[in-house]
Amino acid sequence: MRKEKIVESAVLGTPVVALCGKIWVPSRDPQKFPVCPECKAIHDEMPRGDDSEQ
Ligand SMILES: [Zn+2]
Repeated sequence: MRKEKIVESAVLGTPVVALCGKIWVPSRDPQKFPVCPECKAIHDEMPRGDDSEQ
């Protein structure tokens, strides 16, 4: 039963693939989004948007 609950929330919550490849479902508290060290490192290494994308 619990597995079904998880699948249900995943369907309703639109799972997101994090930078590190982890798939997670955003909670209703955007403020509480956990940023794992891996994602942070990857994000830091990404080239900054130069405002010249277009
Ligand atoms: Zn991550």
